[in-house]
Amino acid sequence: MIKKSAQQPALYLTFDDGPYPEFTALLLDLLAKHQAKATFFVLGARAEKFTALTSQIVQEGHALANHSYNHPRFDHISVTERNQQIEKTNSAIKQLTNTDCRLFRSPQGRWDSSLLGYLIRHGITAVHWSRDSLDYKKEPTEQLIKRFNDQPVTAGDIILFHDDNNLCIDALAVLIPQWQAQGFELKALES
Ligand SMILES: [Zn+2]
Repeated sequence: MIKKSAQQPALYLTFDDGPYPEFTALLLDLLAKHQAKATFFVLGARAEKFTALTSQIVQEGHALANHSYNHPRFDHISVTERNQQIEKTNSAIKQLTNTDCRLFRSPQGRWDSSLLGYLIRHGITAVHWSRDSLDYKKEPTEQLIKRFNDQPVTAGDIILFHDDNNLCIDALAVLIPQWQAQGFELKALES
């Protein structure tokens, strides 16, 4: 067990596109086992459908964040539709948590100046990532882990995973203990 200190470098795990009952619940168990915190960029439609699981994310000390309502390509829809995607999801999160969500990640990380302007006007922070696990490629778990070992994480990294499949769970069961042994604390993003 690494002793916590104010100087302990942090990593920020982020999980996009959920929640999924069959994967997110197991992921929460893994995070709890290692006392690791993370940020879940949920889809509003899924948060509305899986309310207990979405509430559990917050109850276990993780951060809930907005990843649009149903994941359209933001460069293929109107500005009005984009704003509705963000607002509907923030409403869903507020219903569950009674807090205003201040973190947003665009689907596929597509940003432009009008979107960023909207977020600034509404006091919402745009969150990209500094390390992509590339888990969407569905490679063998060992290959994903090897990439992190070949190019080690550094303090402050925001790491992208998706909790719509079991790869994040299999890989992080190995990576979280490694990172903690290296002195990193796994933290939720603050808004
Ligand atoms: Zn996504």
